[in-house]
Amino acid sequence: MKATLAAPSSLTSLPYRTNSSFGSKSSLLFRSPSSSSSVSMTTTRGNVAVAAAATSTEALRKGIAEFYNETSGLWEEIWGDHMHHGFYDPDSSVQLSDSGHKEAQIRMIEESLRFAGVTEEEKKIKKVVDVGCGIGGSSRYLASKFGAECTGITLSPVQAKRANDLAAAQSLSQKASFQVADALDQPFEDGKFDLVWSMESGEHMPDKAKFVKELVRVAAPGGRIIIVTWCHRNLSAGEEALQPWEQNILDKICKTFYLPAWCSTDDYVNLLQSHSLQDIKCADWSENVAPFWPAVIRTALTWKGLVSLLRSGMKSIKGALTMPLMIEGYKKGVIKFGIITCQKPL
Ligand code: SAH
Repeated sequence: MKATLAAPSSLTSLPYRTNSSFGSKSSLLFRSPSSSSSVSMTTTRGNVAVAAAATSTEALRKGIAEFYNETSGLWEEIWGDHMHHGFYDPDSSVQLSDSGHKEAQIRMIEESLRFAGVTEEEKKIKKVVDVGCGIGGSSRYLASKFGAECTGITLSPVQAKRANDLAAAQSLSQKASFQVADALDQPFEDGKFDLVWSMESGEHMPDKAKFVKELVRVAAPGGRIIIVTWCHRNLSAGEEALQPWEQNILDKICKTFYLPAWCSTDDYVNLLQSHSLQDIKCADWSENVAPFWPAVIRTALTWKGLVSLLRSGMKSIKGALTMPLMIEGYKKGVIKFGIITCQKPL
């Protein structure tokens, strides 16, 4: 059964509220990449500020949707249906030609489940939400693994359609379905999902407090939440913000990849703690993903990669040109690849 692709009414909703307990160090809200000032999402500054914030968030959603509408086909052609990093052993010397990269992407899913303690509970996973589902690689994998019913949401209509088509082609339509919806205003009732899965989508969220609140809301009592996401480094004691040169790297990446509110794993842990969740854990997997971006760059530089890139359009080309900055960010310790997991109390 295919889900509809109609844009939900939530896409016209008004802006996100600040959570006064957070953002004291890093901003957990939308930051404008062209300046270091946060865009206000509060209603306290009156209607003008509210309207400006609504425009900004709407523009962000549009930008993300267009980015993935344009680039997903190219990614799938070269890298397949998982639009996330692979998980490698730190000393891995995996070659570009290896099937090792696809295996590493599957391993990322398995390691994430293991880290969250999901493996021993497989039979309990009946309903999964894949928040920021791309073209549904995780959902189809989890649907097959658990026999669970997986529902994916993305801002990109192109991705939702492709995800549904791939599910149909793999006879998984009964188990995996996809629709356009906003992670910050999910079209699901409270407590619906045994597993709330967010694989590399959190970095796009302009309001981390609202994002986490929605993940917690849709999780069933006893359900697990898994957030695997790009972060910036944790701030040390007494540090109020990143160094300007560090913020500069993140702002440049934001311009291409639409990542408006970088935060740290500590920030996520604080947010989860504020919801009284159990078994909150986090880890830095930056070393385990280190071979990934160099491999993506090498594929872009192959003949096939270059031709596909040029055919795909400007957003893909800008994306490719931004990749070295990701490597620089990781190498300099500004960017961290984080996993944060927890369980909602029964
Ligand atoms: N999890 C997928 C795709 C990661 S790419 C995978 O691992 O293959 C990031 C995804 O996040 C895209 O599908 C994008 O549309 C989605 N996304 C970003 N912001 C979103 C939002 N506010 N609501 C729903 N999806 C969002």
